Amino acid sequence: MLDLDNFKSLNDTQGHDAGDALLIEVGRRLRDNVRDSDTIARLGGDEFVAVLESLGTDLAEARAQASKIAEKIRSALIQPYRIGDKNQAHQTSASIGVTLFGWRDMKVDDLLRQADIGMFEAKESGRNRICFFTDARQAAINSRNSMLQALKGALQNDELCLYYQPQISISGELIGAEALLRWLPPDGDLIPPEDFIPLAEETGLILMIGEWVMAQVCQDLTLMARHDLPPDFSVAINISPRQFSDATLASKIRDVIRSNGVCTGSLKLELTESSLFMDLEHAGKVMEELRAMGIGIELDDFGTGYSSLSALKSLPIDALKLDRTLVQGIMDDGRGRAILRAAVAMAKALSLKVIAEGVETREQHLRLVEEGCDLFQGYLFARPMPLDSFVAHLDD
Ligand code: C2E
Ligand code: CA
Ligand code: CA
Repeated sequence: MLDLDNFKSLNDTQGHDAGDALLIEVGRRLRDNVRDSDTIARLGGDEFVAVLESLGTDLAEARAQASKIAEKIRSALIQPYRIGDKNQAHQTSASIGVTLFGWRDMKVDDLLRQADIGMFEAKESGRNRICFFTDARQAAINSRNSMLQALKGALQNDELCLYYQPQISISGELIGAEALLRWLPPDGDLIPPEDFIPLAEETGLILMIGEWVMAQVCQDLTLMARHDLPPDFSVAINISPRQFSDATLASKIRDVIRSNGVCTGSLKLELTESSLFMDLEHAGKVMEELRAMGIGIELDDFGTGYSSLSALKSLPIDALKLDRTLVQGIMDDGRGRAILRAAVAMAKALSLKVIAEGVETREQHLRLVEEGCDLFQGYLFARPMPLDSFVAHLDD
């Protein structure tokens, strides 16, 4: 099965006639590169199928032959196309997925699905490629699907929960917390966010999870508020790139704050650079909206990406959160310390607060204080903990 790699943009820029002419030419080149007994068909759009028969009785030999023919097709399709205005050459390539049949009893649907999986992988691995379907690939897809189903179930069955990790001021006072997501399956061990957030992000489920997180933080905040909280106490929520590009983010936050009667000043959002620099204009607008609501905005994982000074200057950010790797590098050599110093100097120049995360030792803490950091978070002070422990911590 094959799919042209840039057909849509070609069709859009050169018009449908050019698109149709290209498809006809692709069909012709396919026909020219297989035997008369083989079948070529267009599945629809810019997807084609080639059914190659009698590739031999031996699996390895059939695989080698299929590979050879697919390579021939790939090379033929990448040659320039002269269509319409003959002086203008069109260029396209194809992502090809291959599966073998005849050794196992198989339905046409399964065959196409397998070829499609190969083709998807060819696209994923950079286009203009040939990928064979494998059982390992199928197993990976199955496990991803069952993880996704389990995660959807977890959201409905209250298996998600939030842990809170204290944030400490320069004077040693607990003045806030970061909300960190955990998945607690009824019959298994706690699952860390790294194991399921990327999948949620990829599939869009993060939008529902994110709404749950916001609502839960607001509920937990009303519980925390029954204890003796410092005046500027706030909880930070992690917002993933997908959530940030959701046009309804600000209004969702407004609604959840209103319905829980929470003070907006007690919420902060942690955004990563990938959220902001995808579309600076959108980012600026959303951030202004959030800020007008009184919600603090922090740039998370600072030091792992490519923040540009001018972009930072133009966005309404309240604080930079130094990444754990940066904090952990400060004791190793002069370079680590120089990078920290530069990051803090930059934050101060833009009047931003600096939060250091992943603080594990007294030495690190001392040095971060010396260098001018404002807030601290890390195992040295406390690990992320369930709400009841956190509330008990507040009374300590
Ligand atoms: P992050 O935002 O960088 O969160 C900080 C991570 O550092 C947390 O890992 C925290 O447990 C860990 N940490 C804190 N102090 C220390 C320390 O002293 N040493 C070390 N080695 N680690 C420390 P966690 O809880 O596993 O979260 C991992 C990531 O998952 C987070 O990284 C964040 O990107 C994401 N995440 C967590 N909760 C949410 C959520 O509600 N929504 C979204 N979108 N992402 C979340
Ligand atoms: Ca964070
Ligand atoms: Ca971080």
